[in-house]
Amino acid sequence: MAKSITATVTLNFDVPESLNPDQQKERIAEDIGRLYDADSTTGVACTGFEVQGLKRPPISRIHFLCAGCGSPDVRADAYAEWDVVAGAWVLHSVYDEKTCEKCSSSCSLIEVDEATGMEIQAFAMVDDKDVSRQAQDGETPAFYDVMVTTDPTPDGDIHTLHEMDDLSHGQMEKTLAVMQDTYPFAPVTCHFRDVWES
Ligand SMILES: [Zn+2]
Repeated sequence: MAKSITATVTLNFDVPESLNPDQQKERIAEDIGRLYDADSTTGVACTGFEVQGLKRPPISRIHFLCAGCGSPDVRADAYAEWDVVAGAWVLHSVYDEKTCEKCSSSCSLIEVDEATGMEIQAFAMVDDKDVSRQAQDGETPAFYDVMVTTDPTPDGDIHTLHEMDDLSHGQMEKTLAVMQDTYPFAPVTCHFRDVWES
């Protein structure tokens, strides 16, 4: 006696960029068909398959920030409904009212594309009398700053998501790595030539 079950499997394919989505789907189906024809050695028989959808890797992500203070810690009013199958409350609908946890107030939001509207930057700094400024060519940096900011919004505002100051060279490198991990699509600019010696 055999019974029929459906297995959900994720298969990853490298496909030529020149193919359109229908052609990609066709080629993938052909390739799976080739595997499907092979004899089973485990006592199960694959009796059919269907290529249902192609999922492409993301090329960016969207962030929402408070228009007042730039904080990403924002909430939207929403209704939830009980999902019997999941055994949990799930999102039903999202309403216009947004609040910022940092300002503790109702706010409007700015939508930022991580790849095209955000930047990770590192600066080499020196102390000059009572102020800090960027190190010039040939100067030994005293410390480094790392910032994650938005590009200027249409109003000309730049919002800072993270600012880490007074870092050693090693701390700066680690911080940059963490920020690149957190914002993998954001471009990185180092505003210095790597002149640290020690
Ligand atoms: Zn805010």
